[in-house]
Amino acid sequence: MVTNKRMQELINWINDGQLMKFYKSKEWFAKREQARQRDNYECQLCKAEGKYHRVENVHHIKEVKTHPHLSLSLSNLQSLCIACHNKVHERLDEQHEVKFTNEERW
Ligand SMILES: [Zn+2]
Ligand SMILES: [Zn+2]
Repeated sequence: MVTNKRMQELINWINDGQLMKFYKSKEWFAKREQARQRDNYECQLCKAEGKYHRVENVHHIKEVKTHPHLSLSLSNLQSLCIACHNKVHERLDEQHEVKFTNEERW
C-alpha cells in the first residue's frame, strides 16, 4: 500500500517534471509488476489481434503527466510490447516523436 503522504510525494515529482524519480520508485516497480502479472506477461494489443508478444513496457492509459493521481492505479495500466507501445503513443501524441526502448520509462 502507498500512503497518502508518499503518493503526494510521487505526484509532486511528476508535477515538477522529475518523472525519472517516479519511474525509479519502488512503488512504480511493484505496481508495474502487478500489471504485468494481471496481463499474464502478454502484450494486450497483440493479444487483441490474436497474436502473442511478451510484455516489454507497462503503459499508462491516462498519461502520468496529465493524470498523476492515476500513475499507480492498476486500472490505468496496460502491458504492451515496444512496437505496440510506440504505436499507441504515435496515435496519442502525434506531435512528439517518442520512442520507447526499455522498461524504465512510461
Ligand atoms: Zn504488441
Ligand atoms: Zn505509454
